Amino acid sequence: MPKRKKVLIIVTATLCALAALAFGAYKVMNARTFQLFGEIVSRVETDEKVVALTFDDGPTDYTPGILEILDELDVKATFFLTGSAMEDNMEYAKAIAGAGHQIGNHSYSHERMIFKSREFIENEIDSTNALIREAGYEGTIVFRPPNCKKLILLPLVLNERDMVTVTCDVEPDSYKEVASSAEAISDYVAGHAASGSIILLHIMYDSGENARDAVPDIVTRLREQGYTFVTVNELLTLE
Ligand SMILES: [Zn+2]
Repeated sequence: MPKRKKVLIIVTATLCALAALAFGAYKVMNARTFQLFGEIVSRVETDEKVVALTFDDGPTDYTPGILEILDELDVKATFFLTGSAMEDNMEYAKAIAGAGHQIGNHSYSHERMIFKSREFIENEIDSTNALIREAGYEGTIVFRPPNCKKLILLPLVLNERDMVTVTCDVEPDSYKEVASSAEAISDYVAGHAASGSIILLHIMYDSGENARDAVPDIVTRLREQGYTFVTVNELLTLE
């Protein structure tokens, strides 16, 4: 084989291998159901007709309104709160814990937990865990990565703390056409939820109006389908 052709083959093979590695890392970073260390849960395999309603971010000024809706519906939900927002709004975090809802760790800063130092990641997790305890939540603390992004260090650090990573399997807000109306959101959830599903809604910002408005309808329709609402920790006991 001419030398030049040989070099070309080696270069091409190397580029292919690098592309495959980069693609693999991208897949791992974004996967809802796989990570390199520790447990990750997007949905619990169960025949019981139970689902968990989960809310990301905050607490913000929308908290009292959301708690009122949940109280009227008699639903216990799981709130993934950030440490920084809890520091700003500790009263709301306390109200969430006081009403019997589950609080999960959604990092301190909500920065992506990839390409960060171990010290940064440890601090994000530990300071937020401390704030969750300050809010009065006494149950097991699970973690949901900001934007569901994780690579190697984050799962490793969580694994060292025996903290389970929780993502979701029903996320209507991720689809523009679904997120455009409360009706489309509740249609989507009613059509996609299954036994053991973890439903994610973003309700803590102005942009979450449709998701907030959809909550009563989601609960009513899933109850009509025979589902019961439980917290993520209750769901995890069924594994
Ligand atoms: Zn978030």
